[in-house]
Amino acid sequence: DAKASGRNAISSYHGAMHEAASQRLKIDRELRVALRDDQLRLYYQPMVDHGGQVIGVEALVRWLHPERGMVSPAEFIPIAEESGIILELGEWVLRTACTDLVRLIGHFGDATPSISVNLSARQFRLPGLIDTVTAIAAESAAPLSRLRLEVTEGSLLDNVERAISTMQALRALGVLFSIDDFGTGYSSLAYLKKLPVDTIKIDQSFVLDVLTDNNDAGIVEAILSMARHLGLATIAEGVESVQVRDFLMTRGCNYFQGYYFSRPLTFEHLVAFIEQSSGRPLVAARALD
Ligand code: C2E
Ligand code: MG
Ligand code: MG
Ligand code: MG
Repeated sequence: DAKASGRNAISSYHGAMHEAASQRLKIDRELRVALRDDQLRLYYQPMVDHGGQVIGVEALVRWLHPERGMVSPAEFIPIAEESGIILELGEWVLRTACTDLVRLIGHFGDATPSISVNLSARQFRLPGLIDTVTAIAAESAAPLSRLRLEVTEGSLLDNVERAISTMQALRALGVLFSIDDFGTGYSSLAYLKKLPVDTIKIDQSFVLDVLTDNNDAGIVEAILSMARHLGLATIAEGVESVQVRDFLMTRGCNYFQGYYFSRPLTFEHLVAFIEQSSGRPLVAARALD
């Protein structure tokens, strides 16, 4: 009867809730092991200018799981954020990125692109963030002026005044800031001009179908125009084709990131990519292929 099936629906709902909760616990426990046993890897995705030169690289974490193979951050970052282990994970990412930055400077000297590190909302709110960043960079003697932090609109919003002072303190030490996934959060344009941010990254959800979806095209054009008026540089994420690159280029987007140029790379492949891209302009290289 209806009552019984209602009860079943409720208990299977609770069952599903319970399963999701124990799955989260399991991943949290395994992430602690991952940190201890060195199962995390940092990949780097190039960001390029109109000529194909690498102007920065974004550090993206992967989990080399002993049974499941390479696990995407989309699967574990939200859980790590919820459980709090994101703080340790975030420190590992920062430490690894700083070490790799120093190695990169060994290869490219003054021409070394900056490394961008994603900062989770929880990390960003941490009172000791400024000291943590400074101490970790100092461990490997990484120059803070080549470190860029990516923060989302969401992590700025809950306490704008505090966010501004944290960012200003880090900015004073040389750290650069980008707003990540721009357009997906609730951005107040009023505070955007108050933040010590020089770059916004247009979320890939607007970029992927920009050629076929009029709404996406409208949003992208509005963001580009706003950024230009505020004097902010723009990076489009999720550029998968030359047509999308051209669309964005003619509308004044400054920089690009996406599979069309490169997937996230291991450190060794990144070095090779930078060497290649600095040797010859990408536009010409593509034309010859
Ligand atoms: P995000 O910071 O917006 O990073 C960009 C994501 O877009 C990356 O996914 C990248 O691999 C993907 N991507 C790049 N180009 C293309 C493209 O042309 N097409 C498509 N479809 N996707 C593209 P990934 O590496 O899976 O990371 C997902 C998200 O996980 C990141 O989004 C970021 O929010 C988070 N994340 C990754 N690494 C870290 C980390 O070290 N710390 C924190 N807190 N979050 C991280
Ligand atoms: Mg990012
Ligand atoms: Mg993004
Ligand atoms: Mg994203």
